[in-house]
This record gives sequence, structure tokens and C-alpha cells, in this order.
Amino acid sequence: MKHTLVKLFSFAFLSFPNICLADTQNDKIKIETSLPYIKELVQQASCNSNSFATNSIISLGVDPHIFHMTPQNRLSIAKSKVIIFIGAGLEEWIQKIPKSETQIWLELSKDMKLKKLDPNSKHNHTHNHEHNEEDHNHEHRHLELDPHIWQSPKLTKLALKKISILLKDLKPSEAEVIEKCTQNYLSKIDGEVNLLKKEIQKIPEKQRILATNHDALGYFSDEFGFKILSITGVSDDSAPTSKDLKNIILNIKKENVKAIFLESTGNMRNIQSIAHETSIKIGGELYTDSLGKKGSNADTIIGMWQVNVKTILNALKN
Ligand SMILES: [Zn+2]
Repeated sequence: MKHTLVKLFSFAFLSFPNICLADTQNDKIKIETSLPYIKELVQQASCNSNSFATNSIISLGVDPHIFHMTPQNRLSIAKSKVIIFIGAGLEEWIQKIPKSETQIWLELSKDMKLKKLDPNSKHNHTHNHEHNEEDHNHEHRHLELDPHIWQSPKLTKLALKKISILLKDLKPSEAEVIEKCTQNYLSKIDGEVNLLKKEIQKIPEKQRILATNHDALGYFSDEFGFKILSITGVSDDSAPTSKDLKNIILNIKKENVKAIFLESTGNMRNIQSIAHETSIKIGGELYTDSLGKKGSNADTIIGMWQVNVKTILNALKN
């Protein structure tokens, strides 16, 4: 009997190397994340450890505010051991999924000190339009707190630390390596942010104004020292009224704004019409709601901050 078993095992190993591969694959801890930003944090915290199979439901370059889940997404979440999401109402769809008792759900923004969003912001303004027919009877929950933590180096560091604690719990045998990877990435963030802050000093202080119709850059502005000039009342869906336009032009002139910015995931027809009306220049496109697509140089967290600072620098410095 023993002999037969040994024979069987050797047969399995020799003849079906794929089976062994498949087993290794199954040993991985499956981590589902809502955004590519979170997927990268898991990879950075663990130096891309083979022990974790990490996926992002939303792809690079996609606006998370208008995302609709597919049955495949549901299945992928159901099969995961760990689900990590931003929270603060950003991914309402993920919070509607029933949680299994064997799963771990981590809401990154929980216990973070989040900014309040302007009630007139785009996030609230276009909210009703973003619902399809099916959702129409659901209670409309507006975003009260700012979920754009990917624009904040400080909150990103907090998010990384939370993820790092979780990964160490999941894989104690790799705790030391994970701690090292986490510390390295924390230092990398500090180093890069210091360099970017030095670059921003090249913009005269009075010109450090970000004119935008979308308050996704609140954390970014606080930490990198910009003032936000909110072009409120302008949604992606409707043209500004002549009264709106008058106010916007007044503010832009009063503040002597040098440029206004487009966004990678927005419909920026109206920004273009404001630029036309005020003959102010368009300073380029900023990555606000999402990391950039592959090949954009903004497809990583630090890369996104670097590309945005470069765009702003080119537009606002003398
Ligand atoms: Zn947003």
C-alpha cells in the first residue's frame, strides 16, 4: 500500500507539473481591492510577495464615482479572503455585498481625519445623474467626507501602515520582510514628497492657485501648499448659466489665476468654455480621481503626484 502511494505521488509530480503549480496558486491569499491605488499599496507593503494574489476591481484610469459592478466582480469578491476598500461612501456598491464571516473587510479611511466636501461640489452635484434606472429608488447618499485619500501623502502613509499590519497578521512568517518593505516605501514617500515640495517653491506664492470644478485635490492642496479656487456650480453634465459664468470669471480675475486645469477622468467641456470666455490658458490635465493608465507615468502613486506637480509647475511658474 505504502509502495503504491509513493508510486502515485511520484507519478503525480512527474507527469502533472501543472497540478503542483495550481496548488501553489491556491496557497496564495486572495486579496481583492477596489482601486489600483490600494492594490499598489498591498504590493509595496509586501515587496510584491508571492504569498498574496492581489487584484483591483476598477482598472487603471477609470473614474470610481461612476463605476458599476459586474457579476464577475461579485464572484471575485466572494472568492477573496480579504477585501480592502477606501470607504467614506466612495464605493457604495462594495458595501452592498453581503460579507462572509470568514472574510476580512478593511475600510482604509475608517478612523482617518477626513476633510468635509463642499456641498456644491461635483461629487454631490452630478450624483443623481450617475444612477441608472435600477438604482433610482435607492436612498441617495451624498458624499459628505472627502474620499480622495490617494491625493494625500499623509493619508497614504496611514493607509500603507494599516495594510502592513493586516498582511503581517495574514502571513506571520513574512512579518519581518513586510515590515522592512513598508518602512522602505514610507521613506520613499517622504523623500519624493520633499523633492516635489522643493519644486513647488519655484512657483511664486501668489500663483499657487488650483482652479478646478472638482474638489478632489483638497488633500493635495493642503499638503503641497496650494489654494483651491473652486469653480462650483459647474457640473460635467450641464453648461454653466450666464450667472455662474459671471461669478467664475470674476473670481478668476480677482485672484489673478494663471491657468485652469482639465482632469483625466472628467468631461471637461465646461472648463474649456470657461477658458474660452476668460481667455485664461488651460494648464493641462491632472490625475484627480484615479491613477493614470499604463504608460502614462501616472500609473503608480508616486508617479501620479510627480506628473501632477510637473503639469502644475509648467502652468503656474513664470
Ligand atoms: Zn472625485
